[in-house]
Amino acid sequence: AAVALMALSGCSTRTETAGGDGAAAGFAEDSVIGVALPSKTSENWVLAGGLFEDGLEEAGYKGDVQYAGASTTVKDQQDQISAMVTNGAKVIIIGAADGGQLATQVQSARDAGAIVIAYDRLILNTEAVDYYVAYDNFNVGELQGQALLDGLATKGDGPYNIELFSGSSDDANSAVFFGGAMSVLQPKIDDGTLVVASGQTDIKQTATAGWKAENAQSRMDALLTSTYSDKTLDGVLSPNDTLARAIITSVKAAGKDIPIVTGQDSEVESVKSIMAGEQYSTINKDTRVLVAQAIDMVNVLQKGDTPEVNDTESYDNGKIVVPAYLLPPVIVTKDNAADAYANDPTLAPLTE
Ligand code: BGC
Repeated sequence: AAVALMALSGCSTRTETAGGDGAAAGFAEDSVIGVALPSKTSENWVLAGGLFEDGLEEAGYKGDVQYAGASTTVKDQQDQISAMVTNGAKVIIIGAADGGQLATQVQSARDAGAIVIAYDRLILNTEAVDYYVAYDNFNVGELQGQALLDGLATKGDGPYNIELFSGSSDDANSAVFFGGAMSVLQPKIDDGTLVVASGQTDIKQTATAGWKAENAQSRMDALLTSTYSDKTLDGVLSPNDTLARAIITSVKAAGKDIPIVTGQDSEVESVKSIMAGEQYSTINKDTRVLVAQAIDMVNVLQKGDTPEVNDTESYDNGKIVVPAYLLPPVIVTKDNAADAYANDPTLAPLTE
């Protein structure tokens, strides 16, 4: 499993252009565009696949959208990318199953003249990544940390007992989300406002392998038994919605009051949970906008032009700083849900 080597500087707001190697030539309007997505560990990945299929077809390309399977994710994705290279894909958009294990495949893609765009998750330890398109991951973490503090404040005065969860260590985003959240929470741990009663604050202790709900649930079960038989659990930092619901399930099964629990992704079941007063917050990273941004980049490359980026500092992948286009994430609680999802036909009705 790879450890993300991020330069966690704030993202610059300047708009600049920076080019990948293959950017100058352009390619035919009906070219093959490959999209390699990880397994469906959260709803956003399910949505992305359909949106890429429709969007690429509408733009006139031959889209080739593949998901890594549930068990042999890394090998599946490596094989899928290699097949896209063989099929002459001009651009390969990759949501990495394991960002540390694709260097060989993306180098072959580059050698064959394809342009590689890392989608949502960075690809590590290779020069052969041309662009990165994602929501600002560090800011996602900051917003989660702040939401946890805001939610706790509604419960009266501290100190508050909290626990920390992070994502899968093979996903470069996990360390960035956690780093963003801890930039907000650590000062409050240091001054005694927050108490991580289990003492588990290291990302190795808080990680959730494979972003799997059952792993978060069993860790929460264990923490409740080891640490909370005679204490109140006030809050939990959860990196996404799937894990937030698993944590809430564990707490309910133990017969405890639901703590303040954060999330991410605006999954349908979590938005319902927020409206019902159970999960406290989520993050809106509208998948439609992110997919559209990636397809926009393809359109610019097709013409032989250089896609716009707005961050050339934050995403050091261990070999290069990957030029990135970062979109702004939005924090959502019960208070602003109706506003936040006003133009989302699936989620808006849930907030009425
Ligand atoms: C994505 C999150 C998602 C997680 C699990 C991350 O890389 O950025 O939105 O919750 O993967 O699928």
